[in-house]
Amino acid sequence: MEEKKIKEGYKQLAKIVGEQYVSMDKEDIVPYCRDEVSQAYRTYMADLVVAPGTVEEIQEILRLCNKIKMPVYPYAFGVNISSTALPRVGGLMLLVRRLDKILEINEETHTATIEPGVTWSKLFFEARKKNLEPLGLGGGPHSGSLVGNFCLGGGNTGGIDINEEVACQVVLPNGEVMWTGSAGMKGHEKLNPWCRVGYGMNLTGIFHGALGTYGVVTKVIRRLYPLRNIEERIQIGFDTFEDCLNGIKDLVDLGISKQVYGVDRYQAAMIGADSEIIHDPVEYEKYENSFPEFLIVDKISCYNEKQQTVYKELIEETVSKHGGKLVSFTGKTQEALMELWNGSSSVAIRYIRHNPHMMTFAMLPPSMLPGLREQTRKIMEDLDYELTTFSNKRIEYPRVWISPWERNESYLYEQEIEFVPEDPESLKKFLKFQDRYYMEAAKYGSAQINAGFLKRLEPLMWPGYMKIVRGIKQVLDPNNIMAPKQMLKDI
Ligand SMILES: Cc1cc2nc3c(=O)[nH]c(=O)nc-3n(C[C@H](O)[C@H](O)[C@H](O)COP(=O)(O)OP(=O)(O)OC[C@H]3O[C@@H](n4cnc5c(N)ncnc54)[C@H](O)[C@@H]3O)c2cc1C
Repeated sequence: MEEKKIKEGYKQLAKIVGEQYVSMDKEDIVPYCRDEVSQAYRTYMADLVVAPGTVEEIQEILRLCNKIKMPVYPYAFGVNISSTALPRVGGLMLLVRRLDKILEINEETHTATIEPGVTWSKLFFEARKKNLEPLGLGGGPHSGSLVGNFCLGGGNTGGIDINEEVACQVVLPNGEVMWTGSAGMKGHEKLNPWCRVGYGMNLTGIFHGALGTYGVVTKVIRRLYPLRNIEERIQIGFDTFEDCLNGIKDLVDLGISKQVYGVDRYQAAMIGADSEIIHDPVEYEKYENSFPEFLIVDKISCYNEKQQTVYKELIEETVSKHGGKLVSFTGKTQEALMELWNGSSSVAIRYIRHNPHMMTFAMLPPSMLPGLREQTRKIMEDLDYELTTFSNKRIEYPRVWISPWERNESYLYEQEIEFVPEDPESLKKFLKFQDRYYMEAAKYGSAQINAGFLKRLEPLMWPGYMKIVRGIKQVLDPNNIMAPKQMLKDI
């Protein structure tokens, strides 16, 4: 943006939030122009950063941005792994972190009303005081926000049903405030905001996955689940990918699990290993071999030991049909795995400590995953894409994370593709892989939860679908100030 406009913007923003919460200094802005995968893609630079402390300040900021036509990008913690919080055309980074209050934990409706700066960890911690918990990200860093995740369209990996948001409050691009769900009727945000589909269409859904392009989400009412006396994670080993998938499918059908997900041996070893062992290839190989080929984690929640015993028997009987065996580990490994299953941020980082990696995703019914896995292997073979573990072993398939995201209808299939950011050849190969993988996965039938992919996939979409996506944007944001080019190539 031209300097005159930046200076004018700064002056006006300082009037709204106070000078200490706005900056046009590069060193203050750079940290908010990054996300977890910035090493792989080109970076962008904003012109200003602002940290409002109230919904009213956000309203005023958006009115100002409309007046002076300044692009604005909402940013929570930048933990996303999809390049979707970046200032693609410059402008203003709008940090939502100062709005970090849990406004209510409602014990009757089992919900939390939270602001967008509330992290997963904070909600876990506070909800547990009332014997409730949100369904955590499968392996995600809990230092990110639930709202940031919601705007990406992700969350609750392995949580059986992804509809965790009941209603939300949004500041629309013109500065107006609105609520969705049953809170869509004025006054009901206090009387009864707990009905997810209040008046016909599900308007919460349009902000789910919108990447800040339709407005700034300022409150979310989110489901919580009772914490019972016994919360146990049962680990089950399998010999083959297909057996593991069938095991997950039957566990979901059994209907007694809070969360289920699976990893392969190499992913499990990466999570469980401590720092000493990763420098010793021989020891590391022994360590890798101590895991079953595939591992499922099934979280159960029981009132008492009687229920726990019955549940465990049922689970054992179910998985044994596919050769699954209950397994446990010892010492630090068990601790690390349990920490991750419990939602620890530090352990999540372990599985990105090899080379930086990009998670590639697919959303498919379980029976289609082996085909996609083979297709991925074929692309890697064509590109001579080498993936190795700490034992220096070349692996044929990328490390995986398998989660039933919508019961058995759709599974999230995550594959970790590593690259060396400081090596231009490695980066080039990686980007080639990405381009080919996403197109082939789409042609194979995979959905993508993240609206960031619409940029690539628009030519494959139904025209009517894109007409609605673009139409909403046009109606809500005619000046295109909200996160330009984040979701689509042109707007
Ligand atoms: C190692 C690792 C593992 C992960 N595992 C998982 C997983 O298992 N499941 C899963 O779902 N995710 C996973 N993630 C993704 C990540 O954890 C979540 O996406 C995270 O919660 C994002 O939160 P954030 O606050 O950092 O959002 P940001 O990165 O700041 O923002 C994400 C998007 O939301 C928009 N946004 C943020 N706040 C607002 C707002 N108030 N209003 C409007 N738009 C807004 C941004 O513009 C951006 O488009 C993982 C990430 C990593 C690094």
